This record gives sequence, structure tokens and C-alpha cells, in this order.
Amino acid sequence: MVVAVTRPTRIIVSKSAVKHNLDETRKSANAEFMWLAVKSNAYGFGLIPMSQAAVEAGVDGLAVAILDEALAIRQVGITIPILVLGITPAEYAPLAAEYDVMLTVANQTWLDQATTTLAKSDKALQINFGVDTGMNRIGFTDREALANALAFADNQKVFDVVGIMTHFAESDSPHVDYFHGQIARWHELTDGLPLPRMVHLANSAAALYHADEIPTEVIRAGTIAYGIEPSQGELRDRSYVEPVLTLETELNFVKQCHEGDGVSYGHTYYTSENEWIGTIPLGYGDGLSRKVQGFEVIIEGERCPLIGKPAMDQMMVALPHEFPVGTKVTIIGKNNGLENTLEDVGAHVGITPWEVGIHLQERITRVLGA
Ligand SMILES: *Cc1c(COP(=O)(O)O)cnc(C)c1O
Repeated sequence: MVVAVTRPTRIIVSKSAVKHNLDETRKSANAEFMWLAVKSNAYGFGLIPMSQAAVEAGVDGLAVAILDEALAIRQVGITIPILVLGITPAEYAPLAAEYDVMLTVANQTWLDQATTTLAKSDKALQINFGVDTGMNRIGFTDREALANALAFADNQKVFDVVGIMTHFAESDSPHVDYFHGQIARWHELTDGLPLPRMVHLANSAAALYHADEIPTEVIRAGTIAYGIEPSQGELRDRSYVEPVLTLETELNFVKQCHEGDGVSYGHTYYTSENEWIGTIPLGYGDGLSRKVQGFEVIIEGERCPLIGKPAMDQMMVALPHEFPVGTKVTIIGKNNGLENTLEDVGAHVGITPWEVGIHLQERITRVLGA
């Protein structure tokens, strides 16, 4: 994997926006301990810059999907708690213990296997129980099995039983029946059991809209930290959220065309007389959809459409007049009072803002900004 630092294309993660969004969430949920989900390259924003921004913003722990992501965070010297949300093969339990990474337990079989693999480990493995209340993804679905597994783990020196969680399938919608069903199931499965010290149910949406219905001393935020309003404005006005991601580049070639010059593969665009066309070093190889054609980027406070089929590494922009090579081009973010968001790009190409972020390739360099 190559990160391109010798072209002017970059993603900037705003530290102050991350902090603002996390502070809002902590306040809404009255949370004492906040995990930030930085799985899948931090929703595409960049695992390390986002983790660093989160640590500076006072987040208490980082949640990832896969042990490798946790180890990458440890490698840059981040020492706060890390939780792996997905299932880790038990053979890697000693590695997780060595790096102080908490793993999620979804059934007794895994506990049995990890008890064996951890036998020679000199450190206890921190574990977090997953309870399935209706997501039907991973976790205990049976009260007795859960009770037995909790008791079993408590009795093994190789485990430090830290947490228990469930995850909601629908917490960002005005239709709350399924959400309420999951809360009821949570109570059926866990009430009266001796639970670990860290109990966490809420993702961003549950923390923001349902804090009075569930325990929220500990929450797992994701979406909101990335400047995406989880309900897309349906349950709460977006104004409390600050966009986090800027995607910008520079014009690296500018020319004036003749009437009827065809631009890019397949000539889907023909220039008008004396039209100025700019080229930018960013393409669908960087994770933008080819449907981004027609989307308006911002150059010195003017909206300029991307024209012609996006190429893998380069795209063309119709300019209202000549701009010098090196002029900044904002695809996502603010520029001279105008702004494009992940939502705007998503709406143009027909995908969610989450997917726009996730698709951004590692080739684009990520930096932390104010
Ligand atoms: C991704 C994830 C989160 C964060 O969810 P958001 O909806 O993005 O806030 C929380 N918990 C689990 C188990 C997850 O997989």
C-alpha cells in the first residue's frame, strides 16, 4: 500500500470538530466513559490521525473491528484502552493480552479455546461479553448460557472480565418498536446477573436520542464523531454537528480549449469556445465513484463542475475563467464561505455519507488539522 505524499491531494481531519462532536455526545448521554469506534480505517478517515484526534479530544477508549487495527494503534504509542468488537480467533488471545487489548466474547466455545491458548500467557486477557438482543450478528442469545459463561470466565485467572455490551439494529429511526424490543430482551437476558463493571449498549444514535431509556455511563460512539448526524437530520437538527473531513487538492494543469473539444474517456463532455479546463490529481482510484461527474467542487469560492468521465488518477474541472496552477480545489470541506459535505457527495452519487468516507483509499494522505 502506497500513501501518496508527492501530490497535493490530501484528507484533513479537524481536531476541533472531532472534539466538538464528542463533547456534544458525551453531554447528550451524560457518559462517563466513551469508546470511539475507529474500525475500518476510522470510517475511512484514517485510523491513526483519527485515533490521535480522539485521544486529544479526551476519548476514554478506542474500539476496532479486528485485532490488527488495535495493534496498529498500539504501535504509534497510544496507551488508552482498546476494544475489539468483532470475533478474534482464540489463537491470538495471548497476542491481545500482551498488548493490553480487550477482546469480545460471543460464546462459551471461544472461552474454552482461549483458556487453553492463554495457559502460558503471563498477562490476563481483558474480555468484553457480547449479548445479542436482536441484531443477530454475534453474541449470547440465551440467559443461562450467558450466566454460565460469566461465572466460568470469572473463575479463570487468564481472564479479566471487564465489560458486557449489546448493539442495536435500529436506533436512528422514528420507528422505535424494534429498538424497544431489544431493550426488553436486554433486561430478560441480563437482569439479576452479576454483570462486569463496564456495561455498554449505546452507539452514537442510541446515545443521542435514547439516553433516558438505557444505561449510558459507558457508550460506543462512531458516526457522530465523524461529523455525520446519525439520523441525517430526521431526529435532531444537524446544526449541533461539525463536519470533520476535508478532501482537497490543487489544479495541476490548466488550459483553454476550442469549441467542441471532447474531454476524458469516451468524450462525454465537449467544451465551449475558449472554455478553461483544469485537471486535478484525484480520481476513482482514490475511492470516488465515477458517478461524481457533474459534482461541483469549490475553487476560490466558486462552484465548478467535474466534467468528463473521472479517470483512475485524474479528473477535469470546468473553470469559469483561468486559475493559476496550484490553486486549491475543495471537493469536501469549506472554501471561501462555501461548503461541500460527505452528504452532498453521497447524494450526488447515490450512496450514504458513511460509504463515501469508507471508500476513500489509503493512497490519499491523511493529516490532522486544527
Ligand atoms: C460500529 C459500531 C459502533 C459505532 O456505531 P455508530 O452507529 O457509528 O455510532 C458501536 N458498537 C458496535 C458494536 C459497532 O460495531
